Amino acid sequence: MKICRFNDSRIGVVRAGHVHDVTAILDDLPNLRYPLPLGDQLIASLESLRAKIGQLADRAAPIPFSQVRFCAPVANPSKIIGVPSNYPAHVAEVLNDKEIRPTNAGKPSLPIDKQGLFLKANSALVGPGEGVAIRFPDRRTDHECELGLIISRQGSDIPEQDAMSYVAGYALALDMVVRGPEDRSFRKSVDSYAVLGPWMVTADEIADPQSLDFELSVNGEIRQQGNTRDMTCKIAKQIAWASSFYTLYPGDVIMTGTNDGVGRVQPGDVITVEYAKVGRMEVPVRAHQR
Ligand code: MN
Repeated sequence: MKICRFNDSRIGVVRAGHVHDVTAILDDLPNLRYPLPLGDQLIASLESLRAKIGQLADRAAPIPFSQVRFCAPVANPSKIIGVPSNYPAHVAEVLNDKEIRPTNAGKPSLPIDKQGLFLKANSALVGPGEGVAIRFPDRRTDHECELGLIISRQGSDIPEQDAMSYVAGYALALDMVVRGPEDRSFRKSVDSYAVLGPWMVTADEIADPQSLDFELSVNGEIRQQGNTRDMTCKIAKQIAWASSFYTLYPGDVIMTGTNDGVGRVQPGDVITVEYAKVGRMEVPVRAHQR
C-alpha cells in the first residue's frame, strides 16, 4: 500500500497514478490529550487500520496527481536520524573536495562506525509539494538523495535480526545541507532541508530494500546514481545501532545515507529523485523569504 499526506493534511492511498482520499480514517485514531505521546499516531495505528484504509480507498474517487500537493508522509516523527558516510563513493568524493568536507563535527576520515549517527530537526521536514527554500544564497547548499525509512513501532536495543520488523515503510528522502564549518546537525536542520515523499510504500511491497536502483537529477541533468546494495551500514544495522542509543518511536525517520554526486542547488532548480519500487518525486527549489 502507498499512503500519502496531501493538500491540507489529508490522507490518501495511491493507486495507479491517482490518490484516493481516506482522511476519514483519522476518526479512528486515539483521542489524545496533553501531554501527547512521542511518535506519529497514524503510523502507530497503521497495521490495525490497514484493512479499513483499503476499504475507504475502494469507495473514494480517484484524484489525479495534478490536483495533489504532496506533504511528508509522516506528520509527527519524534526524530529524523541521519546516516553519514554510508556509501564508499561518497566518502571518496568528500575526501577529495574541501568545500564539502566538514571541518569540525563530522569527521569523514573516520569510518562510519566511529562517527555515529546524527539528527536533523523535525521542523526541517517537508514534502515535495512544499519544496526547498534556500536560506543562505551566498553559501553552498547541496542535495543528498537517500532512501528514507519509517519506523513502525516503539523499540529499544533492537537486535539486528529483528530490525526489519520495525520498518513501516519507505519513502524518498533529500538530506539537504548547507556546507560550512558549523556542527552538521545545525547545517542540516534549516527549515525545508529534510524532504520526505511523495508517499510511504509499506514494507511488505519491498522484499529487498538493499537492492534498489536510484537516481537524482537537477533540471534534467543526472547528478547521483547508485544502488542501495552499496550501503556500508545496512538498514537492519542502522535500526539496531540507533535503538542502542535512543528509543525509536512509530514514525521516526531514518535517512539512510547518500552516494557520490552531491552538488549545489539554487532557487529555480527542480530536483527529481527516483528509487525503484518506491517512486519518483519532483522538488522545486526557491529562495527563502525573510
Ligand atoms: Mn546524508
